[in-house]
Amino acid sequence: MGTICVTGTASGIGAATKAKLVAQGHRVIGVDLRDADVCGDLSKPADRQRIVDEVIALCGGVLDGLVPCAGVSTPVPNELIVRVNYFGTLAIVNGLRPALEKGTNSAVVMISSNSTTMTPGLSVDDAMAYLQQDEESVVARFSSPAAFVAYPAGKLAIAFWVRMNAAEWMKSGIRINAVAPGVIDTGMTRPLLDMPGVKDSLDMIPIPRGRWGQPEEIANAIGFLGSQEASYVVGQILFVDGGTDALLQPTAHPHPLPGGSKS
Ligand code: NAD
Repeated sequence: MGTICVTGTASGIGAATKAKLVAQGHRVIGVDLRDADVCGDLSKPADRQRIVDEVIALCGGVLDGLVPCAGVSTPVPNELIVRVNYFGTLAIVNGLRPALEKGTNSAVVMISSNSTTMTPGLSVDDAMAYLQQDEESVVARFSSPAAFVAYPAGKLAIAFWVRMNAAEWMKSGIRINAVAPGVIDTGMTRPLLDMPGVKDSLDMIPIPRGRWGQPEEIANAIGFLGSQEASYVVGQILFVDGGTDALLQPTAHPHPLPGGSKS
């Protein structure tokens, strides 16, 4: 049994992941705005460093796993989406790397999204901006409320980051992978049903499974990727979306063929 840091433990997928890991006998160090072992705001650079310091103090500098789950989406301002979902997440992941290097069979499971493959107009350039530019430039890029791609571009950047860094992190003994959830019934999505027009858009998403997912179904996939059951799985993005991605792009297997495009 190990010590695993999970962010976003106060609600939804993070709460379900914490419950699953605790039930398996792991020690979980939870991070969230409130109701957590370490409370702080991942949108704020000063808080990010304090969160990292407090987690390292609590785990004695040794972590066996990390699930950076905290995130926000519409209708919060794009600035918050950029700061929390990508830059806050990466600050925690990079800040806790030294502790993960000292852990046993360490694994990081990041949270992407199936919006990365089903958002019309989302470009690879939007995602690469996250990877190549500083935080303030990315905030500025998506400053218009109409820049609806801020969220899926950040999640695509997370997926790219996983694939671009998996080999190098593996040299330190750390496996990194991600899940890409579809629409999951959480505190993030439920309020959207009351927003004019948004429920109709959500209802238009084709889900072969016939329903939204439950946070426990994502926690199960996170638990697998983080466990030794997945000891040979490295740098993968596991879509857990009731079949939407497969339905919409059946020939992407799972990445574009050479010369193809998937954005
Ligand atoms: P949720 O709102 O239920 O939980 C998110 C948690 O993150 C909350 O406890 C919240 O307090 C915390 N959080 C938000 N901003 C924070 C900040 N600045 N600092 C610290 N903590 C903060 O949402 P969820 O659906 O469980 O989402 C979890 C992750 O899954 C997110 O990264 C989200 O983007 C991703 N995701 C969700 C869905 C979905 O349909 N629910 C789909 C794809 C991906």
